[in-house]
Amino acid sequence: MTAFERRGTHLIHVGGVPVGGGSPITVQSMTTTKTADVDGTLAQVYALRGAGADIVRITCNDVDAAKGLAEIVPRSPVPIIADIHFQYRLALAALEAGVQGLRLNPGNIRKPEHIKAVARAAADRGVPIRVGVNAGSLDKDLLEKYGSAVPQALVDSAVHEIRLLEEVGFSDIKISVKHSNVRSMVESYRLLADTIDYPLHLGVTEAGPPPAGLMKSVAGIATLLLEGIGDTIRFSLTADPVEEAEAGRRLLEQLGLRERAGLDLIACPSCGRAEVDVIQVARDAQAALEAEKLPIQVAVMGCIVNGPGEAREADIGIAAGKGKGHLFIKGQVVRVVPEAEMVEALLDEARKLVDEGVEARLAAAEGTAEQIAEETARELLAARGDANRTEERRARVAEVAGGDAEVAGGDAEIAGGE
Ligand code: SF4
Repeated sequence: MTAFERRGTHLIHVGGVPVGGGSPITVQSMTTTKTADVDGTLAQVYALRGAGADIVRITCNDVDAAKGLAEIVPRSPVPIIADIHFQYRLALAALEAGVQGLRLNPGNIRKPEHIKAVARAAADRGVPIRVGVNAGSLDKDLLEKYGSAVPQALVDSAVHEIRLLEEVGFSDIKISVKHSNVRSMVESYRLLADTIDYPLHLGVTEAGPPPAGLMKSVAGIATLLLEGIGDTIRFSLTADPVEEAEAGRRLLEQLGLRERAGLDLIACPSCGRAEVDVIQVARDAQAALEAEKLPIQVAVMGCIVNGPGEAREADIGIAAGKGKGHLFIKGQVVRVVPEAEMVEALLDEARKLVDEGVEARLAAAEGTAEQIAEETARELLAARGDANRTEERRARVAEVAGGDAEVAGGDAEIAGGE
């Protein structure tokens, strides 16, 4: 399904989920609940899974959180990564709790003997470690050396930590070098990809609330994915984490890196030709279709003139006209419905299309399709004729030709000549 070449990396496994080595790109998110609240956290993990998360990270920030992990991990539908800052002992406790991955921040756990102790314990359990460098919590020495969190400083931090892990024979590693500035983030990952061949976890850190946070994340993550860089992704949004997981999944779907799980709605931007409120119809259709979770591409177009043709790649669509809607499958109009029933008809046809397939639905419409096609053709002709100002142009042509009488006279002459 991959439409472009991906950078070769080591293969690691976070629980049962492969990361790197050409595996499908995975989506991650992080819970926002207190980890000690086991049921609340598990409910969020399930919601994240439902939205498209393959792996979920949970903070392990104190002993109660570590105890919570011991209950959460065996009941989780996805592998759990414990997020560790400052206290290496909490990493050991999280491993004891059975987590399938650790994330260590090199800027926050600095003693080599502590990092090596965690690596040995992780190796014993076959648990990978993410070296998670963050521009906002970069090692002080590197900040002094470079003056600010420039890409090379982030990469140096990651490489320093990797070398410590490698010194004790640990190579079950993935890496992130997150920055809140999109261009710096992209440059950091490019540099990192040229330096090491461990799998990479992509993200724009502290991206903020949507829509700006979404745009930053898409700009950074998509740029790298299209260059073949990146093995797992996270949108760090200031929002419900379910939105993060959903955004990550949708991005992969749009890039053709993941099979579509639900609706892909395409809709025209509307223009003066539209006879209905396209934005409202698109919103209503989106709400109705998303509730059904049908894995199809649906088009909502504002007019019959350009709608079916422009959206002929869509599985199904509606082109709104004055007082009615033309329902089409793969660009072919199969039904005409009153304006008030457009969305319901679209939903009804979408369900049938998923159940029966395109061919069957087109065949079922064959009897009526011809008649509709004729009517549609007449409407199109009328609309296009009007759009082309045919009468006006004919009159102008006649004028240039010397007027109707002369042209008629010319004709008569020719006729006489025969
Ligand atoms: S499909 Fe019709 S209404 Fe929509 S933008 Fe195109 S011409 Fe305008």
